[in-house]
Amino acid sequence: MDAITLIERKRDGGGLSAEEIGWLISRYTDGFVTDYQMAAMAMAIYFNGMTTGELTAWTEAMLHSGEVLDLSGVSGVKIDKHSTGGVGDKVSIPLVPMVAAAGVRVPMISGRGLGHTGGTLDKLESIPGFTTAFDPRRFAVQLEKIGLVFAGQSKSLVPADRKLYALRDASGTVESNSLIASSIMSKKLAEDLDGLVLDVKVGRGAFMHEITRARRLARTMVDLGAAHKVPVVALLTPMDQPLGREVGNASEIAESLQVLRGEGPDDLTEITLRIGTVMLLLGGITKDRTSARALLERVISDGRALEKFAEVIEAQGGHPRVVEQPELLPQPANRTHIPSPRSGIVSQCDALAIGLAALRLGAGRERKEDAIDPAVGITVLAKVGDVVEAGEPIAMISWNDADRLEAATRLLETAWEIGDETPRATPIVLEEIR
Ligand code: URA
Repeated sequence: MDAITLIERKRDGGGLSAEEIGWLISRYTDGFVTDYQMAAMAMAIYFNGMTTGELTAWTEAMLHSGEVLDLSGVSGVKIDKHSTGGVGDKVSIPLVPMVAAAGVRVPMISGRGLGHTGGTLDKLESIPGFTTAFDPRRFAVQLEKIGLVFAGQSKSLVPADRKLYALRDASGTVESNSLIASSIMSKKLAEDLDGLVLDVKVGRGAFMHEITRARRLARTMVDLGAAHKVPVVALLTPMDQPLGREVGNASEIAESLQVLRGEGPDDLTEITLRIGTVMLLLGGITKDRTSARALLERVISDGRALEKFAEVIEAQGGHPRVVEQPELLPQPANRTHIPSPRSGIVSQCDALAIGLAALRLGAGRERKEDAIDPAVGITVLAKVGDVVEAGEPIAMISWNDADRLEAATRLLETAWEIGDETPRATPIVLEEIR
């Protein structure tokens, strides 16, 4: 087999066999197929897509390009959740302890923030001492012992995606339905799951701006799960304004603690409960949605979800006292308010502008190698539908560096639109695809 023949065939609209795809991915992983050849193949796929058979073979080959976790020794049912990424999207942090306290095992492998969207690992690492590096044995031991793991992706898991994702990023080929679906699903299938819930974000602050594209991506991933005998449910959820009120790292941990205490913002609490309900149903923990939701509400009200979070913090080297004393989390040196330019009703609170402002402050990375500042961020004080008076604060900026503050402020000044009419309420979940 040779790469050029396969690239030319795909470029001209022809098909690739499972054997050819297996060869291509394995030889790309070991370096025989070059980056420029794979970039040409990714562009051919970007324009011509993949058939269901090709996509299944591509995902299978990616999945087996490295180590696959074997969690067969871990008792119970293992369900994970993955979000395509948003602004203020800290759902995984309260969700995982909550569903673990309700009896589902969650082997969560997450990513870092990239661009204007935050990452679960960065947020968790703002807890003093918290680490996310695991070897497979310790991963299985912790999962069995306490029912949840918050891990980073190891180098040995799906190495083909590690290479290919960086290559796509640099070659204008990220936004291919087939390549996104196979990238996400190969990593999730490598976790040896019994089920997966996908939170596919749609809107200004999301990867997918239109619901038709989000629906197509969700359908592709649900079908890929089915082809690998892993039930997958995808929820399409809006990402036009940030979720909850906090956008940052330490501040998002503090807000997650509020959810676990039953005192979180309504939108964040509701989406966490909705995703948790689907996880419990997929895991067969309860028979119907009503009892699943009631169980989740119970583990919040009796403190078991919060205790589970303290347990995982301790198991992963963090300071569990942050659960009672969130002020132990990194704090900013300064806080500045943004006033509302007029009186009226908030009609837009732009997740993209707010995410970019948080990035400029240092809450995210402009380049992969950048360090983040865990203490900085933005508190959204006025959300869509809120009534505000001229001069009233609509946001609070937590900052450490005056140059960064200026860049963030410029972005925030145009993030809010204030009108005279009450905007139509957006549902928490737009669609469920299974
Ligand atoms: N997230 C991934 O893991 N892969 C993609 O291709 C896009 C988002």
